[in-house]
Amino acid sequence: MRILVTGGAGFIGSHLVSRLIAEGHTVTVLDDLSTGLQSNLSTEANRIKFIRGSVLSTADLSRAFEEIDYVFHLAAAVGVFNIVKNPLRSLLTNIRGTENVLDLAASKKIPVFVTSSSEVYGKNVSDSLKESDDRILGSPVTLRWSYSEAKAIDESLAYAYHVEKNLETRIVRFFNTVGPRQLGAYGMVVPRFVRAALNNEPITVYGDGNQTRCFAHVHDVIDAVIALAFAKGAIGKVVNIGNDFEISINDLAKKIISETGSKSDVVYVPYDEAYGDGFEDMERRVPDIKLINELVGWKPRRDLSSMIADIATEMKQPG
Ligand code: NAD
Repeated sequence: MRILVTGGAGFIGSHLVSRLIAEGHTVTVLDDLSTGLQSNLSTEANRIKFIRGSVLSTADLSRAFEEIDYVFHLAAAVGVFNIVKNPLRSLLTNIRGTENVLDLAASKKIPVFVTSSSEVYGKNVSDSLKESDDRILGSPVTLRWSYSEAKAIDESLAYAYHVEKNLETRIVRFFNTVGPRQLGAYGMVVPRFVRAALNNEPITVYGDGNQTRCFAHVHDVIDAVIALAFAKGAIGKVVNIGNDFEISINDLAKKIISETGSKSDVVYVPYDEAYGDGFEDMERRVPDIKLINELVGWKPRRDLSSMIADIATEMKQPG
């Protein structure tokens, strides 16, 4: 197929591009390189059409949609630091950008795969978050929640295009995804901890570290994306993609220190100091992954040790 990947120079997008090329597809990438890196695509450079442009520009999108049979829409403003620092740009990218993609896809009848986030569940701390579960959010003017709002609107938009315009849409909610090529600069906890551990520098934990998280290896996530993208049963659905193994941030720090043989200490910084006044975080977020298992038989295969090892290996490489 001829496939467009928006945000294809990013962390997850670039892994998806590699997989699509390996499976024989022709790939166009549209990315403004705001958080993505052209070097993420260096091994694929001669095999893809790369357009440096924005999903906010209808002219860039029209070029990107030329001779396309399928769209994966990953372009977004991501990362808590990024969202809190640039709330307006993030909201517009995540809402208007998605609307632009859906609108053009609907006019050309091209299926769209929309990447949403576990952030839509907000502060719901249930043992296992099902796709139909309620969202629990803080105030709209607590900037952290604007990412959740935007992704939820993306889902509603995609669903409305499916229902009213018969557009073939699939929506996934990624839970924390980690692996090589992920930048720690945007507040992503695992690469940030691994880098500090490798440098024997203090590992900074925000809050008391008792909050828990679940992490999935990006290669598992790409397996899930590929399985769902071409499954008839996933059309019009919202599907969680994540690993349900839960670990506290304190235990994560300890595990990374021990597995990298680091001499780092753990230091604690209050949320307010890290993110600004009134910052709210969730205590835990655990995915229910029954639906994806029923639809395509997917389960995560790689454990946290392999995620830490793969990230550490990449960070030790020169350049
Ligand atoms: P990323 O920042 O590495 O990728 C996003 C890409 O979009 C970047 O390459 C960036 O340059 C590009 N981009 C941003 N604004 C753009 C614009 N206006 N036009 C074109 N390109 C633009 O982040 P990622 O982790 O790879 O995220 C990919 C998708 O997955 C995003 O939609 C994100 O919301 C979603 N997601 C990721 C996670 C995770 O754990 N990594 C969790 C939940 C959801």
